[in-house]
Amino acid sequence: MTENEAKKLIAKFCEDRMNFARGKDMSDKELKDFCKFSDALTLSISSLEEIQQYRAIGTVEECWEARERQRGKKRVLDSYCGFNSYECPVCGTEPVGGSNYCHKCGQRLE
Ligand SMILES: [Zn+2]
Repeated sequence: MTENEAKKLIAKFCEDRMNFARGKDMSDKELKDFCKFSDALTLSISSLEEIQQYRAIGTVEECWEARERQRGKKRVLDSYCGFNSYECPVCGTEPVGGSNYCHKCGQRLE
């Protein structure tokens, strides 16, 4: 079963319950329980929709990597034969000019 199929089934179940409950004489407790359960079903549908939105962005690992690339990291000083240069702390590439991002891996640089 897919998430969309589950969402449709839950929505249909809610609708059927509402139709069944219409015209029924419920006690306050029954009505309270009915509303709580309907709220739980509505919450489950919105939770599924939220999960689908996150999956459209990417996996948790991909989002984590993207966030880490956006956090500025200090360039690594590389001294060689009396010359100083700076490298990307992630991939070791020398940034082009004064760029704030590594042109190879996309890491933000301070
Ligand atoms: Zn890099």
